[in-house]
Parts: sequence; C-alpha cells; structure tokens
Amino acid sequence: MKYIIIISIIFIITLLSNAIYIFYDPATGKQADKSENVFTYKTPDNEIWINKNRVALERMRNHYISGSDSIIDSLEAENQQVTLLRQLEPDVQEMLSPSKGYSPYFLIFNSLIIITGFSFICYLALKRKQTEQSEASFSSITKVNVPKVQPGESAQDNKSLNNDQVLNKSKEIICEILQIINKHSDNNISPRQDSLDNFANEQVSKIKTSSTLQDLLTVEEDINKIIPEHFENTKSLVNTKFNELREMLNELAEDFGSITEDSTNFSGQIKDSMSHIEKAIELDEIKEIRKKITLETSSMRKVIAKKQEKDAIIIDSLTYKVKSMKVELASAKEEVLIDGLTQIYNRKAFDKKISDFFKKRSKKNRPFTLVMVDIDYFKKVNDEYGHTVGDEILKKVARTIKETFRLNDFVARYGGEEFSVMIDRIDSHYIMDVCERLRIAIEAINFTVDSDTIPTSASIGIAFSKQSDTPKMLIDRADKALYLAKESGRNTIKSEVDLSETELETVST
Ligand code: GH3
Ligand code: MG
Ligand code: MG
Repeated sequence: MKYIIIISIIFIITLLSNAIYIFYDPATGKQADKSENVFTYKTPDNEIWINKNRVALERMRNHYISGSDSIIDSLEAENQQVTLLRQLEPDVQEMLSPSKGYSPYFLIFNSLIIITGFSFICYLALKRKQTEQSEASFSSITKVNVPKVQPGESAQDNKSLNNDQVLNKSKEIICEILQIINKHSDNNISPRQDSLDNFANEQVSKIKTSSTLQDLLTVEEDINKIIPEHFENTKSLVNTKFNELREMLNELAEDFGSITEDSTNFSGQIKDSMSHIEKAIELDEIKEIRKKITLETSSMRKVIAKKQEKDAIIIDSLTYKVKSMKVELASAKEEVLIDGLTQIYNRKAFDKKISDFFKKRSKKNRPFTLVMVDIDYFKKVNDEYGHTVGDEILKKVARTIKETFRLNDFVARYGGEEFSVMIDRIDSHYIMDVCERLRIAIEAINFTVDSDTIPTSASIGIAFSKQSDTPKMLIDRADKALYLAKESGRNTIKSEVDLSETELETVST
C-alpha cells in the first residue's frame, strides 16, 4: 500500500510541475500571455526585433543607429520606434507571436510520464484488489496462513498460538458463524434444521476439543461445505465472520513475526551490549591489573627506597669504618715501622728503605750515602745510671740526629744504641760536614742525672753506594768504617775511604 502512496505522490508532483510549467509564467507571476508586454522594433531594412525588455530593445536600437553607414540610414532608423507587439498589425502579430504550443517532444514525454503513472497506479490498485479478493475467499485462508498454520509446522508453533486467548476467540467467532447459518437456514430447504443442529453441535464439540489452529480451519471447511450455494446472504455473513477470524489470526501472526524480529534485534542488541560489557570487563580487568601493578610497584619502590636508605646508612657506616680502619691500619703500619722508644724509624723500616733506595738507584742511577752512628760506651751508662737513664739518652741522641739532618734524609734506629742515616747525595764534603756537626751535637748533649753530667759521644762510619752494591755490601762497608772510627778512639768520623784495601776486601758480597 505504501508503494502506491509513494508512486501516487510522485505522479501528482509530476502533473503539477508540468501544469505550472505550461500555464504559469514565473517571470510575471501571472498566467502566461505571450503577446502581452512584448516590444518590437522595426529596422529601416524591415527587420523586426522582438524583446520583452524594452530598455534592452532601445539599447539595441541606439546601437543600430550609431552603427549606420550613412546619415540617411541613421535618420530613418531614428524614426522607427519601439512598440508593443500588440500595436502591430494583426497578421504581423500572428507571425511574430511566440508559439503557444510546446515542443511535440515535450508533450510526448510528459504524456508518456502521465500515462505510465496512471497505468502503474491502476496496475497496483488492481493487484491490491485481486489480493484482497483472494484473501476474502474461503479457499485462500489456508494460503494466507500458510507460513503460520500449515499442518506441517511444528507443534511448538501451533502450541504457541493455542495457548493464548486466540483460540477461545476463534471458537467464539465460529460459534457465531454457526448461529448465523442456523438463523438463515430455511427448514424447508436442506440442510434441515435438525441436521443443521446436529452439524452445529458437532462443530461446536469439535471446536471445544480443538487444540490447534489447524483444527479450527477444518471446521471452516466443513461449514463452507454445508452452506447451500443459493444461500447468498448466509454465505456472505459467514465469509465476513471468517474474514474477521483470519484478520485476527493474521494480526496475531504479524505481531508474532514482529516480536520475533524485535527479538532478533533485541538479541543483537543484547549481543552488542554483552560484547561491550565483556570489553568493559576486559578493560576493567586491565585497569585493575594495572592498578595492582602500580600499587605493587609503588610498594616495591617504597621497600627498595627503604632498603636503599638502610643500605646507604650501612654503606656510610662501613665507609666510615673502612676509612677509620685505613687510618688505623696506616698508623698501625707506621707503628710497625716506628721505634717505640725513640719514635724514629726502626730496623724494619730501614731495611725496606735501603731496598727501595737500591731499586731507585738502579733505575735512575742515583747514588746515596749511608751513615752509621753508634753511641760510645753506652753499656757503661746503663750500668752506672740504669736502663731508664740509658733510654732517655737514646731518645735524646735520636732527636739530635733527626734535627741535624734534612727532613728528607732517612733516620732510623738500626738496633740497640746504633742509628743509621740514608742521605740522597754523595758529595763527601757535605757528608763529612754534616756528620761532623752531628758528632759535635751528640757530644754537646751532656745528659745530667742527680747533678752528674753524663758525657755522651758517638762514632760515625760512612759508606757511599756503588753501582755494583747490594744493601748488605753497603751496610758492611759503613760498619767497617764505624769500627775504624771506634778503633780510632771513638767520638770520631770515618768513611769507607779511610778503610784499607785489606779491610775492604773482607766486605762480603
Ligand atoms: P762501644 O763504645 O764499643 O760501642 O761500647 P758500648 O758499650 O756502647 O757497646 P756494647 O755493645 O758493648 O754495649 C751496648 C749496650 O747498649 C748494651 C746494652 O745494654 C745497651 N743497650 C742496647 N739497647 C738498649 C736500650 O734499648 N736501652 C738501654 N738503656 N740500653 C740499651
Ligand atoms: Mg756503642
Ligand atoms: Mg753498638
């Protein structure tokens, strides 16, 4: 039906637009009159110009006048005036008037549109009527309801219809039909009243026991058979009632279909919603996981930060301990190399130093001087004044040696009351001079105990390192020079230069 409406609207619009085009002049807004307000200009050459716009026509005329080849032509042209078409002679008007007719193609085309439109509408209307007629006939009910109530359909479909009030309503309608038959039947004409009653009772009991729509349709067939052909009114009423029934069933079927369709849409929507929900759930899960990870990470960071803080404190304290241990170790090492009594380097430090000196010398070829200092008759001091006094004298002598030599000269307690000095130069003049100053300084100590002045002196032996020396050889030569100084009366200085060849030969390698 809606197609008919749409096509009718299109057809009407086409008709109206054509009518407007033919009978209405859009320029003037009035019904077109082709001869009205049309101006003409007749040239001296008897040409007639025609234009709706007077000004434009006059402009063309002026142009014509100014373009004339001769003054006579121009003057003649000026005498010609722009006039309305209707002021011309009727035969000229007829000749010049625009044709009131339209192009035959235009008319044919529009006629075709109109005829096609009419034909189509008639066809649709006819088809619609045929359909309605076929629907109205009894025999068509099965066809109309085929998709819904075919016997072959599943019991579930029928059941879905039987279970509601439709069946009861249908029964009511069929009962009404039977009453109509009863009412319109003539006792004298078959079927007789009694047989009709029996038939009616039969059908009613059939209806009452019918459980499917298909059963109801069999009732309809039976009823249709029993109505005599000439019972037109009865048949018509019965038809009307059955139409009511069929429409009701069709509506029900349509509703059912729309419900199914809606259900499809609905299920689609549900599916979409479900997928969205699932996605949302997924997203939520991801968010949740991310949140948990973030929480875990932040708590891990906190733990790590705390651990780092603790570690930093531990590292700081350990670093401090290491530093202090290093200091302690250095001082311990120093202590190991320092003589406890005199607070100068001990024998161990001396051995290391002389070894280093030789290494250095071998590399850079720099010779050095070894000076050995031994306190004279020190045993006697201990014996007479005690070890404590002896210790004090040892300390005093050590300090004197330190003060006599330069800071970078290496002064050590070699052992007992014997000291050694390593000097990074070998010029004998300087060496002899500094050793002499030392000897004098020790002699000048004059340690006093109980108003007794203890005389102090020392013997000094000097040796100069050689390229071929070992520490032992150098020490031996210095010792021999010291021994020579002792032999020479003590409180004196001797160097290896003073040693005889025999004494030098005894120096072990
Ligand atoms: P010389 O002139 O020949 O060197 O005679 P000296 O007595 O000095 O030599 P000696 O080797 O006979 O005696 C050295 C003494 O030095 C013996 C020892 O008691 C004393 N002595 C060694 N070490 C110490 C010490 O640390 N403190 C004290 N008080 N005496 C020491
Ligand atoms: Mg001595
Ligand atoms: Mg000695």
